[in-house]
Formats: sequence, structure tokens, C-alpha cells
Amino acid sequence: MRSLCLTWFLLTLSTLCAFAQQPFLSSRQWAMLRDESSGAAPYENLRYLTGLHRVPATADFDLAAQFVLQRAREYGLADAHSEQFPIDGNRQYGLMRSYLGWTVEAARLWEVRPQHLLLGDWNTDPIRLADYSHSSEVETALVDVGNGTSEDDYASKDVHGKIVLADGVLARVQELAIAKHGAAGILSDMPNQTTAWSGLDRTLVRWGHLDARQPSGFAFMVSRETAESLRTRLRQGEPIVLNAYVKASVGPGHWTVVTGTIPGSDPAAGEIMYSCHLDHERPGANDNGSGCVTILESARVLARLIGSGALPRPKRTLRFVWGPEVEGTMAFLATHPEIRQSLRADIHMDMVGGDPFKNKSVFHVTGTPWSLPSFVTDVGVVFLDAIRTAASDYAEGNASSATGIVETRAGEQGTRNEFIADVTPYSSGSDHDDYDSSTIAVPSLYLRDWPDIYIHTDHDSLSQIDATKLRRVALLGAASGYVYASLDKTQLPTLLPFLTAQCQERLAEVFGSAQKLVDDPQLGPGEAWYEARNLVNHALRRENEALHSLVEFTGGPAGAEADGVNTLAAQATAFSRWLDAQAKTRGAIGTAPVPPWAADADVRRIPLRIGEFGPLTYQNDNVLLARLGKERYSKIKLLNSEATPLLSVQDQSELYAYEIVNFVNGKRTVGEIRDAVSAEYGPLPVSLVADYLNACAEAKVIQWK
Ligand SMILES: [Zn+2]
Repeated sequence: MRSLCLTWFLLTLSTLCAFAQQPFLSSRQWAMLRDESSGAAPYENLRYLTGLHRVPATADFDLAAQFVLQRAREYGLADAHSEQFPIDGNRQYGLMRSYLGWTVEAARLWEVRPQHLLLGDWNTDPIRLADYSHSSEVETALVDVGNGTSEDDYASKDVHGKIVLADGVLARVQELAIAKHGAAGILSDMPNQTTAWSGLDRTLVRWGHLDARQPSGFAFMVSRETAESLRTRLRQGEPIVLNAYVKASVGPGHWTVVTGTIPGSDPAAGEIMYSCHLDHERPGANDNGSGCVTILESARVLARLIGSGALPRPKRTLRFVWGPEVEGTMAFLATHPEIRQSLRADIHMDMVGGDPFKNKSVFHVTGTPWSLPSFVTDVGVVFLDAIRTAASDYAEGNASSATGIVETRAGEQGTRNEFIADVTPYSSGSDHDDYDSSTIAVPSLYLRDWPDIYIHTDHDSLSQIDATKLRRVALLGAASGYVYASLDKTQLPTLLPFLTAQCQERLAEVFGSAQKLVDDPQLGPGEAWYEARNLVNHALRRENEALHSLVEFTGGPAGAEADGVNTLAAQATAFSRWLDAQAKTRGAIGTAPVPPWAADADVRRIPLRIGEFGPLTYQNDNVLLARLGKERYSKIKLLNSEATPLLSVQDQSELYAYEIVNFVNGKRTVGEIRDAVSAEYGPLPVSLVADYLNACAEAKVIQWK
């Protein structure tokens, strides 16, 4: 009896494990994908990439592209090729203005007096020369200008012909020190991408960029330790003379993008995109060599299993793209409108291989913004859970290394770590911003490590990378993409109830936030009532649209999600009743809450997107700034933190701005757009939304209907 019980228990347990990836793949399919996924292959590919200083539109970037192309062909991708997109600083790709290329022959910086010391050499350590440095040959004094980004930093200092030591934003220092005050160059320890750990390791050399659109200047990057020692010596009155030699030029060039596919069985069924960004400084192991080699590994796994017939060929085509961050995506999509139209979902990998005990990262599966609700995140989350559970079981000694997906096979050096991971709401910062934006509208499963204490420094190296994690993420990517490519309407009866349960869970979470809002002492009772109900209404809209996205994606019958919609409506009604009662106890009056903007005539206007496609900000282009000029741009209230003390974090106002434009659909009024972004990120005065949209209208990005 006892052994029978045990057998039954083990059987149940193994069935549970096998079905952890339900309802999207059979356990046999899951095991095939898992066993084929390798951490060693991407790790070794990463070894090559980390030797290249992969700044867009440079020779090293093209070497990286060549390498990826060669692998894509070896792995059996169809139509694998690279494309070059000319750039000259003016040519437009969609709404985005192109940037410039950069050629470097040599660059060296020495301290020549009083010490004789090499401070940087392009040949051995290219990160020490800031991007877009121009030619120069100079032997001159070093002058400390502090931050170097305000006019005060230059008062009573003669920097003409000298090299300034500064830790402010490089482009601004270039503008003031070089363009305005005639300095020859910059020595910088500018911190970028700060984290809680920034400043602890003072030996890190950070990646820096000058503004390629400015006509002259060079900058060398040094560690905080080196810069502080130079500052101390200057303060003590020691004259320091540097010798800088830079042979480099900034000008027209090209962006290179590599692509290849696994063709689907139905050419009319659309494409699933895998994106990453191939650029960044050397070594740039996690950011973002890791994403590049991991989508390449997902490609290898899928090409092998589909090519051999082990997995049925999905109907949708799988496309893989490697290019410069955001800029390559815009150039590619602008040049191939037919591909842009055919895209159905995107998997974006940006930093996916960090060993969390070294770079302090958490791996995040990140959802789409509320302007583009989609089931794609839910698919990724199912596989995340399956891998995380398997990894924990292994770490606790309850599973084999095979099911725990560790890369110790054949003597490989992957860790036995757990998979430290979670699910987060939309976060901005890479190519998924383009895909998720309203005029492209391709929902992205965004996979990313954050934070990473070595990001954009010379220590973002192969030794921070875990082959086991690369294998797990390659599997997550391959499984999710395969599901996106194969989903069809016959699965709706199983998938819709599953998805409805996920929607219910998220809606319940929102109810927690709505309870806090209705009790918020900062808001009057009527206002609090309105904001709490507004949050529930928009959360309900979001979940309904997520359900609908699956029906639409699979070509299912109209209204197939009706059961789910009814379930969610009942849940939201119960929440709203509770909120109504709570608002009344706080003294709210009337039968329904009134919008705080109800009396404002301006909010009834309806904006409509016009002109080219794309979001309004890019790596090297800000559409409103470029079109309206600095003066007008600085008056946009939403983006000017002094005018908007309630937006304590600058990032937050950028998220609002991104979503305000995404919610513009030719139907929503200004007031309704205000309500939509207020539900997503917190209540916002309608005047800020109207003011921002007015600026967009002046820049001819929208017009009033
Ligand atoms: Zn990145």
C-alpha cells in the first residue's frame, strides 16, 4: 500500500512537472526544446562579440554583423543576409532622423608632465575614447571644471586650447567647453546608468559619447579613481600637461542590419519578430552581446527542430534581426513596410545573461504598455514559471540537472543558480519601445536584466555571464516564439479560460491599488472616488483587450471571448461597488463620480496622429526638440520637472509622454487620454496632457480632428 501511494505520488509529481508549461506546448515538445537549447553555444559566440567595440556605423560593428550573419547561415536560417542603410544626420527613417558614422584610426592620451603615464589607447582599450571624437593633436594643460555643464563652471577659468576635466554629461560639456570656450578636448569620468552600486567600484571606466552633430572636440574616459587623483593634484597647484592624439572622423556612413528567417507554412499568416541590439561598447557582454547570442541560440534550436521535422512547421514565419539599438529597427521597418505590416508579435532581448550574484541583476519578463494590451506576456510568463520552478527544484536537490536546465553538460561551466526572475509592467529603454508604440503596434515580450552594476563599463565582460542563464533564456525565447508562430483558433476553447484566469488575477491586483486611491488623503473624497473608479475601468478595458488580442491573433470568431468578458465585468462591478461605498463613507456626493476635468472645454478635442510612423524619442533624436527648438521644448510642462513637481522622477514624465501619444487614436478626447494615462501611472492634471498634445500639434505629429 505504501509503495503504491509513493508510486501514485511520484506519478502525480512528474505529471505536474511535465505539464508546467501547459496549455501551450505538449510535454514532449517542451522536453525537445529544453534538451536542444544550449548555454555553451551562445557563451562561445559571445566570446567573439565582446572583443569588438560595436558602436553603430563603425568598422567593428560591421565585423560583429558579419559574424552573426555567418552563424545565422550555419544554423540554417533562410534568406540570411545583411542590409546597409545610409545615414547622414538628415535622412529620415519613419519619424526618426538618422545619425552619423564614425571612423577611428588611432587615439592615445598621455600625461607627459610631471609624470609620464599612458591614460588611454584606442588600440588596446577603445572604451577610453568617447564615441564621435574628432581628430586632434595637442599638448596642453589640464583644467578642472567640476561638472562642466553650467556656465558657472567656467567663470574665471581660461580653458582656451586646454583639456578640461569634467564629470558632467559629455554632450553638454562639449557644447560649453569646446564650442563656446574654445577648449581642445575633454577628460571625463561621467557616470552613466547609475545604480545603487555606482561609485563603489572607482576603477570602472565608463562608456561615453560626444554629440556627433557638433563639429569638433574629443574626449577620453577615465575611471573615477584616476579622475579624483588628477583633481587632487590640480587642487594642490600641480600643473599637469597632457598629450592627446586622435585620428578620427565623424560623417555620413551606414547602419548594418542582419536578418534571417525560419519560413512558416503559410506566407500570408504574418511574422514573429526576434529583436535585440548588436551595438554598444567593448566588451558589452551583458549589454547586449547576451541578447544577440541568445536570440541566435533560439534561432538555432528552432531551425534544428523544425528543419528535422521534430516540431511541426508553424504557419507564421519566425524572423530574427540584429542591428543598432532602436535606429536599426526604425531603418529596417521604414525600408520594409511590407514586413512591418506583417509583424504579429516581437520578442526583445536586451541583457539576458548576467550571473545575478556578480552583476546584481534580476531577470524581468516585462509586459506591454496599457496602450497595447496583449496575451503575448502571458505566454512568456508560463514558460518563465516552468523554468523557474525547474531551476529551484534542481537547486534544492529535488530534480536532475537535465530537468533543472543547467549548463553543466559535457563539462560546461554554467552555474547551478536558481533563476532569479519576476514579471514587471512595461519599462522603456530599448527597441521594444518602437514595436509597442501605437503606429507600429507589435506587442513585445521584453526580456531583460535590471539592474546591472557593470552596465556601460569596461567590466561588462564575459566573466559576468552565466551559460546556464543563457540556456534558460534561449529556451524561454524559443518556446514563446514557437507558440506565437503556431497558435490557431482551434486552441481558443482551452486558451481563453486560461487567459481569463490571468486577467482576473491582474484585475484583482489593480483592486488593491484602487483601494489605496479611494482612501488617499491627498485627494478630496469626490476626486479619490473618480480616480479609483477610473483605475478599475481602465484595468478592465486592458484585460478585455488582452482577451480580444488572442481572438484577433488566431483569427477566431468575433465575440469568442464573451465568457471571459462577462467574468471580468462581474469582478469589476463587485470592486466598484466596494469603492462606491468607501467613497460615500469619506463623504463623496452624487450618484456617480465626476471627472476632475468635467468643466474644461479644451478636453473635448480629439487628437489624431499624422505623418510618419514611430514614437517621439530615439537614441539620438528627439522629435519635439528637433522640430520645436530648445526654447519651446523647455516650456513643455510635462517634460519640465520644475513645472511639474508632482512628477518627481524624470523617467516617469517620459513614460507619460510615450503613452499619451500612444493613446491618441482619433477617437479618444484629451480628457479620455488623461484618464487612460492616469490609470496606468497615477492621476495627472489634464492641463499637462493638453499642453503636451498642443506641442505635438505644433510639431505636426498630431492634428486636431
Ligand atoms: Zn541594452
